[in-house]
Amino acid sequence: MSADMFRLDGRSVLVTGAGSGIGQRLAAGLADQGAAVSIVDLPTQSDGVATTVAGIEELGGRAVSIPADVTDPESVEDAVARHEAEFGGIDLAVNCAGVNHGGAAEDLDPAQWRRVIDVNLNGVFYCCQSQGRRMLAAGRGSIVNIASMSATIVNRGLWQAHYNSSKAGVKHLTSTLAMEWARRGVRVNSLSPGYIMTPMISGPEWADKVAGFRDQTPMERLGTPDDLVGPTVFLLSDAAAYVTGTDLLVEGGFTSW
Ligand code: NAP
Repeated sequence: MSADMFRLDGRSVLVTGAGSGIGQRLAAGLADQGAAVSIVDLPTQSDGVATTVAGIEELGGRAVSIPADVTDPESVEDAVARHEAEFGGIDLAVNCAGVNHGGAAEDLDPAQWRRVIDVNLNGVFYCCQSQGRRMLAAGRGSIVNIASMSATIVNRGLWQAHYNSSKAGVKHLTSTLAMEWARRGVRVNSLSPGYIMTPMISGPEWADKVAGFRDQTPMERLGTPDDLVGPTVFLLSDAAAYVTGTDLLVEGGFTSW
């Protein structure tokens, strides 16, 4: 066993949602491990995307920005094709784009339900399908889908039936794809963060809840995007060569109480 098993030199990785929060930090962390990175996000996130690309290039890494909407299968296919053209193939992927906004189930507007399912679950499927086709043809690849501990538990005091259901879908979609592709060289795992300080939970509507999140977490702190880099590198790398279909919880012990 050597630390080199965690290196990603010579591989290319496509990261969605990489203009902000967790995806942005993961993209930089994967570049630190030697991967060439596509920064995929909505055109509205162009500032965040430019910051991610510049940060990677400053450290001598290679990154390209590819605007795309994960809810549109054609846009996803174009993005993956651009990645392939840029880097000569696709070795790795992190599907991180996601949205959340709360609402009691009995009042949830169907359009709100559809939007969250569309980005968080349908988007992950479109990405995996487009990435997976190419990886299967090459006979190798590794995908990490960012789910959430909300796939496993119901967050106390948060009314988000759409979000929890979308993430449970991502977790089960991940193990399903892993089983379909296990004998063909493609590994698929999910990573499920607990509460992580990012723009997703930094708005004023979250302010009074964040202290409660800390108190409910056994490690008595919220996570940061930095906390997710090592686990993601592990799942993508050769160190996890015999790991597929798993859901890795990174939540400061939250789900063990
Ligand atoms: P974030 O800072 O809001 O980042 C999410 C990114 O995804 C944003 O840049 C967002 O753009 C982008 N996005 C949204 N819809 C998209 C679409 N249709 N196509 C392409 N990109 C799209 O949130 P985050 O906290 O880093 O969340 C990243 C992932 O981690 C999400 O899947 C989230 O569910 C998951 N997660 C987060 C936490 C947490 O506590 N923060 C916990 C568990 C799981 P816009 O901002 O323009 O919408």
